[in-house]
Amino acid sequence: MAGRVDLDGNPIKPITICMIGAGGFIGSHLCEKLMSETPHKVLAVDVSNDKIKHLLEPATLAWADRIEFHRINIKNDSRLEGLIKMADLTINLAAICTPADYNTRPLDTIYSNFIDALPVVKYCSENGKRLIHFSTCEIYGKTIGAFLPKDNPLRQDPAYYVLKEDASPCIFGPIEKQRWSYACAKQLIERLIYAEGAENGLEFTIVRPFNWIGPRMDFIPGIDGPSEGVPRVLACFSNNLLRREPLKLVDGGESQRTFIYIKDAIEAVLLMIENPARANGHIFNVGNPNNEVTVRQLAEMMTKVYSKVSGESSLETPTIDVSSKEFYGEGYDDSDKRIPDMTIINKQLAWNPKTSLWDLLESTLTYQHRTYAEAIKQAMSKSTAN
Ligand code: NAD
Ligand code: UDP
Repeated sequence: MAGRVDLDGNPIKPITICMIGAGGFIGSHLCEKLMSETPHKVLAVDVSNDKIKHLLEPATLAWADRIEFHRINIKNDSRLEGLIKMADLTINLAAICTPADYNTRPLDTIYSNFIDALPVVKYCSENGKRLIHFSTCEIYGKTIGAFLPKDNPLRQDPAYYVLKEDASPCIFGPIEKQRWSYACAKQLIERLIYAEGAENGLEFTIVRPFNWIGPRMDFIPGIDGPSEGVPRVLACFSNNLLRREPLKLVDGGESQRTFIYIKDAIEAVLLMIENPARANGHIFNVGNPNNEVTVRQLAEMMTKVYSKVSGESSLETPTIDVSSKEFYGEGYDDSDKRIPDMTIINKQLAWNPKTSLWDLLESTLTYQHRTYAEAIKQAMSKSTAN
């Protein structure tokens, strides 16, 4: 850790970070990185600490005096402002961010992603504290190309689909498609933060993650989350593979995504934390444009990788089609394609992702198999016995 310097060669001074949502998927990886590779201190705020327990206990850990957990629901806790005041930087990760909730719990989704984030922005602005806020790539909605006829050659032109922070429009579906409640709430909080920067001098950075995936993402239904719960696609497909059931392809699995390994993405966040002069006032896409697949291709690749890491043969029918109405209910809609433009993050932070989709799936599915295979076997044999 000694002699660490920023991108301009200046020594990095230890800071205190108030991390809200530290107990989630991204927060747990960011805490791990900050504890093992930096001298910074973390005030970890969340309603749950299951995913960072290994960093909090025992007290003999090398970083024991650099991380403390505060079990706080930011909706209604007066301790939040005090923690933001104690810190040099606040990182806000707290959100409802699973698509199955956007159309079925739209009010909770809007409150979580807009209303609950308001005091965080306000406390940072009033107290002159820097803020890194987590938004989403979903803010772009659908691509311009999605509105062209299927056979129109312009659909192949990057100008019609590459998503640029400072140029692309945000294109959402109609209000009755409640899927867009999340993207719309995230867009409004981005605009508010941007306006706080412009009018009141708030030092901010906005992060737009493009499908970050890896170990500890979401939950496996019936094992460490509700049996009826619907997590994001990595956990859905992992659950199917662990239980030897076909992977469900929503509306044909035609939507396209670019997936990035969580450890690559965390490198980008660390650069933002430690290079404020380069990161302040910017909105950053953080994704891997080289890892694009359709959801169907993702299912095929995960099936192959899982077979390799578990030693189990694949099913004869590895996937089945399911309608979005059946899978998510009324009001679901989808982003067609998500390719991040990397110009701004390349220029400001000289950052690029490294890990291929195959490699990131191999390490992630090795983790899923090691963590869950036995528990699933036991749960399945119990339910057959009953
Ligand atoms: P996550 O659900 O694993 O983590 C969110 C954490 O916030 C959870 O631990 C949750 O308990 C906590 N939280 C929620 N409401 C809270 C409240 N009221 N008080 C205290 N804690 C609260 O999700 P994640 O994947 O780690 O995502 C983190 C952020 O990144 C979110 O803002 C999300 O919208 C954004 N994001 C993530 C991805 C991705 O690829 N993972 C993609 C787009 C956007
Ligand atoms: N999806 C799917 N089967 C599943 C879960 C998700 O086909 O079991 C699809 C979903 O419709 C979407 C894509 O996978 O097109 C990615 O979904 P995810 O929940 O990860 O979030 P998103 O990228 O849409 O924010």
